[in-house]
Amino acid sequence: MIRQFRHLGHEIVEDPAEADEVVVNTCAVTLDANRVSRRLIRQLGRANEDTSITVTGCYAQIAPEEIAILPGVKRIIPNGEKEALVQQVTGQAAIEAFDREPLERDLPGRYGRTRAFVKVQDGCNNACTFCITTVARGAGRSRPVEAVVREVRMLVEMGYSEAVLTGVHLGSYGQDFGDPDGLAHLVRTILSETSLPRLRLSSLEPWDLREDFFALWQDSRLCRHLHLPLQSGCDATLRRMARRTTQQAFAALVEAARRQIDSVAITTDVIVGFPGETDAEFSESARFVESMRFAGLHVFRYSRRPGTAAARMRGQVDEPTRKTRSEQMHALAERSAREYAALVIGRTHSVLWEQVAGVTQDGFMNVGYTDSYVRVHCTHPRALTGLITPAQALAYDPQRGALDVRPLLK
Ligand code: SF4
Repeated sequence: MIRQFRHLGHEIVEDPAEADEVVVNTCAVTLDANRVSRRLIRQLGRANEDTSITVTGCYAQIAPEEIAILPGVKRIIPNGEKEALVQQVTGQAAIEAFDREPLERDLPGRYGRTRAFVKVQDGCNNACTFCITTVARGAGRSRPVEAVVREVRMLVEMGYSEAVLTGVHLGSYGQDFGDPDGLAHLVRTILSETSLPRLRLSSLEPWDLREDFFALWQDSRLCRHLHLPLQSGCDATLRRMARRTTQQAFAALVEAARRQIDSVAITTDVIVGFPGETDAEFSESARFVESMRFAGLHVFRYSRRPGTAAARMRGQVDEPTRKTRSEQMHALAERSAREYAALVIGRTHSVLWEQVAGVTQDGFMNVGYTDSYVRVHCTHPRALTGLITPAQALAYDPQRGALDVRPLLK
C-alpha cells in the first residue's frame, strides 16, 4: 500500500498528526488484537481530528460494526477489496501492486533496507477450530512465481539483504494452481534467478512439509530457521483443534530437519487452556514441548473467539487455570531458549546487522539477527547496518533475550 500511495505521488509521514489520510491494517487473531486495534484507531483520531481513517484487515472484515462507531473512521474496507484500497482512498486509478520501479527513499520510522517481507500467499483451506482465518481471509490463493521473483529482484536493487516469504498458510503455496510442491519450486526459483543474499521462510504448518523439502537448505542463502506451529503436544488436544499432525509425525519432521539442516533453529507456537484441556493433557503437552528442545516458543493463552468452532465447545477452561498453565509454559519457553543459546555460545554465526540502537563512548550499539533468527548485539566502532558478517557468540543475555557477539570483520 505504501508503494502504491507513493507511486501515485503521495508522501508517507511518520507522525499521524501530519497525515491527511491514515490507513490501519488490523489483526483479529485474538480478542486482545481487536482491543489493540480499537485503541490505536482512537489514539489516531485524537492525534489529528482532521484526518480521515480507513480501516482494513481481519478485524474490519469480521466486526465492521465495532469499528464504524470509532471517531474519525471514514471507510472500512474488507480484506477482499484490500487490493483496491489505495484507489478508494485517493480516487486515483489503480496500479498493479508489485510491478513498479524500485523506490528511491527509505520508509519512515522503523523500516529500513535490511529485511523485507514478501507476501506470496493469502487465505487458508484448513479449519483449525480455534482459528478465525478462514472466515477473515477466505480460501487459499498464491501469487504467481514470476510476480514474486520480480518483487525480490526489485528489493535486491533497493539494497535489501534479506527477504522473508510470508503467507497466511505459506506451506500451501501453489496448491491452488495444482502444484503440491509449489513452495519448494518457488524457493528454488528465487534462489536461482535472483542474487538475494538471504532468504527466510516464515511460519510453516508441519503437515505441509515432506522430508525432501529440507534438501533446499543445501543453498546456504536459505536461513537455517524453521517456525513450525505445534499448538499442542497432546494428540487428543490436537484432534479437537483439527490440526493435521500428531506427536509422532511432528517429532519425525523435527528429526528429519535436524538431520538435513546443520544447526537448524526450530521454533514453535503453543496454545494453553484450549477447551477440554485437562491437567493430564496439559502435562503431556508440556512434556512433549520440552522434549523437542525448541530454540524459541510463543505461548498463547487460549481466548474464546466468536465465530470459531472452539468457542462453541464444551469444557472451556477457566481463566485462573489458563493463567497458571501459561506461566508454566512461559517458564519452559525461557528454559528452552537459554539451553538453545548455551549450545551456540562460542560458535560463529552469519549475522545481518539491522539497526543501531544507540551510541556510547565505546561505539555504535549494533543489533542484528543470525540466519537462525537469534537476536544479537555488539558495540563496535562502526555502524554495521546492512552488512552480513560472521560473528562469534560470546554470551547469552536473558534480559534482552539476545546473544552478545563479536563481529569478525576483515
Ligand atoms: S492452518 Fe493456520 S491459518 Fe489455516 S486454519 Fe489452521 S491455524 Fe488457521
